Amino acid sequence: MKIPELLAPAGNFEKLRMAVHYGADAVYLGGEGYSLRNLADNFSLDQLARAVDYAHGRGVKVYLATNIFAGNADLGGMRRYLEQVADIPLDACIVADPGVLDMVGEISPQRPIHLSTQANTTNWRSARFWQRQGVSRVNLAREMGLAEIREVRARVDLELEMFVHGAMCISYSGRCLLSGVMTGRDANKGECAHPCRWGYAIVEEQRPGRCFPILEDERGTFIFNSRDLCLLEYLPDLVESGVDSLKIEGRMKGAHYVASVVRVYREALDRYREDPHGYRTRPEWLDELGKISHRGYTSGFLFGRPGGEDHEYRTGYLRSHEFVGLVSEVREDGEVALEVRNRIRAGDELEFIGRGMSSHRLTMPPMVVEGREDDGPVRTAHPNQRIRLRVPFRVEPLDMVRREKVEEDN
Ligand code: SF4
Repeated sequence: MKIPELLAPAGNFEKLRMAVHYGADAVYLGGEGYSLRNLADNFSLDQLARAVDYAHGRGVKVYLATNIFAGNADLGGMRRYLEQVADIPLDACIVADPGVLDMVGEISPQRPIHLSTQANTTNWRSARFWQRQGVSRVNLAREMGLAEIREVRARVDLELEMFVHGAMCISYSGRCLLSGVMTGRDANKGECAHPCRWGYAIVEEQRPGRCFPILEDERGTFIFNSRDLCLLEYLPDLVESGVDSLKIEGRMKGAHYVASVVRVYREALDRYREDPHGYRTRPEWLDELGKISHRGYTSGFLFGRPGGEDHEYRTGYLRSHEFVGLVSEVREDGEVALEVRNRIRAGDELEFIGRGMSSHRLTMPPMVVEGREDDGPVRTAHPNQRIRLRVPFRVEPLDMVRREKVEEDN
């Protein structure tokens, strides 16, 4: 049985390294200017070349998102950009716009082209159409059910990719004007401000300034607020459907999200590969996905049209844990260097997250800050400092460190 590729978002170099560390088979990332998600810390040309080198050195593929809907004015810049990346050995370009597809084919005829979710492929004839245009992989619209996915698989022989985890749009896979209208940030140029997740209320014209909440929640309502997609529990169905790639949404999301989601899906796919008949979804995998920032989970359209229970009316985001640091070095003498991302205090209960599902807890002792060794051990370490410590278990560079979320008293 063929196990699909696990495809992870890489919003910046650190997230790329974490996606690779925790087991992604491939990553997708954006260059400066021509990918959706312009507000992720996208890769410069130089970083892009280094990223491909880094990933290929570890057997991981890299797909470059060039999936804006281009206006006439974008075409010149897009052409120059595609020419600049022509010599970088990317494994594919992701496109949505037929004009951009045409240009990639002209400039890099050997480069595989993946069709973005933004092209909204919802049936097998569309998939076949795109294949005839030179596309080697289609990302199936999130609005498709399992039976429809199986039918596409049976009727076309190009690669199929589908989202298994991450945010959902309330419009067809991101084709949405809400953000552009409300904030001037165009979702179709990668600048979505996510207004579908804000709270809304009604204002009666004769009473300007008085807002009436639509639901009985003092924070307003979340009428457009879809829960996030999570198909972990249906992994056997997805593998057996014959899709080639399982994609995780979220180039704008943080390192904790990338590491946790990749780690869980990697573990699940590996367990399924080992023993498909004895496979079951483990509760600890679902627990793990509950620890990252999310809006409640839904299976989306996989088994039919979503209903009210697939929206999150009560609150914005749920999150029980926070990322506080990253193991950056493990020295031969056993000392560990930790990059601090969120304030750490002596006495904090931290969790070191390894590959596979390994994790170790540690009550933090006073810490030595690099460059300030003369001060001796301190009780608080701040973001951007590096601390040194010894831990009574095995860790690797790039292991993430987190703690249960606590309200800061400042
Ligand atoms: S506003 Fe919401 S529905 Fe529209 S593109 Fe942004 S995330 Fe998607």
